[in-house]
Amino acid sequence: MDIVLLGPPGAGKGTQARRLSQTLKIPHVSTGDILREAIGDGKSPLGREAQEYIRRGELVPDGVMVDLVEERLRRKDAAQGVILDGFPRTQAQAEALSTLLKRQGRSVEHVLLLDVDVEELTQRLSGRRVCKGCGAVYHVNFNPTKESGKCDRCGAALIQREDDREEVVRERLKVYERQTQPLIQFYKERSVLHPIQGQGTVEEIFDRLLKIVGRPH
Ligand code: ADP
Ligand code: ADP
Ligand code: ZN
Repeated sequence: MDIVLLGPPGAGKGTQARRLSQTLKIPHVSTGDILREAIGDGKSPLGREAQEYIRRGELVPDGVMVDLVEERLRRKDAAQGVILDGFPRTQAQAEALSTLLKRQGRSVEHVLLLDVDVEELTQRLSGRRVCKGCGAVYHVNFNPTKESGKCDRCGAALIQREDDREEVVRERLKVYERQTQPLIQFYKERSVLHPIQGQGTVEEIFDRLLKIVGRPH
């Protein structure tokens, strides 16, 4: 089963995708995580190319992203489906994804659109903290760690993503409206779009998603 999580920055895509992945036992593919990992490496050409775009809140070019996802989908663990988080983000990416999946006799089965108002998005992004060690995601108010500044899972330090600063967030929200929102219509036409109220507790939203994709037996 191939699932796409769609929604603006801060909508909760990563949080929900991680849970879905555990419950459905299919891999979580976050293009943002893959890019950040490549940047962290310091020497990967992909990381070097992506860094400037991310820092400015702009999208990394489609060609780069499509190659990256193509390679990820070829891996063995992706054979039964993936949960895509942060991809596609443009019409060209959505078309490329359809083509890639079609070659394997697959198609996007559900597009889960997380609907969250701008006020809430801004609060979520400004308080988001991520673990330097394992990538776990927290929020200073909505999902705090037991010990301040320290990951519950691995003990490493928490940091704020550079692109979660206010000026960059404004740009990312604009980029979403301009380049990603058209995908709502794209997937509506293909009858796979499910708009979901993205405000409430993480658990409540997860239940809404499971109602759509179905609980595993
Ligand atoms: P968010 O939490 O805002 O949804 P992500 O972690 O998914 O952010 O992405 C962070 C940044 O990585 C984006 O602002 C963009 O620069 C880059 N990026 C991630 N996925 C894509 C993609 N599919 N196409 C282009 N750029 C991407
Ligand atoms: P995205 O991947 O769409 O950018 P994240 O899953 O990283 O979003 O969530 C953004 C921030 O909001 C994180 O700090 C996360 O802990 C927090 N968050 C996620 N879901 C909720 C929720 N339902 N209510 C409050 N905060 C949330
Ligand atoms: Zn950690």
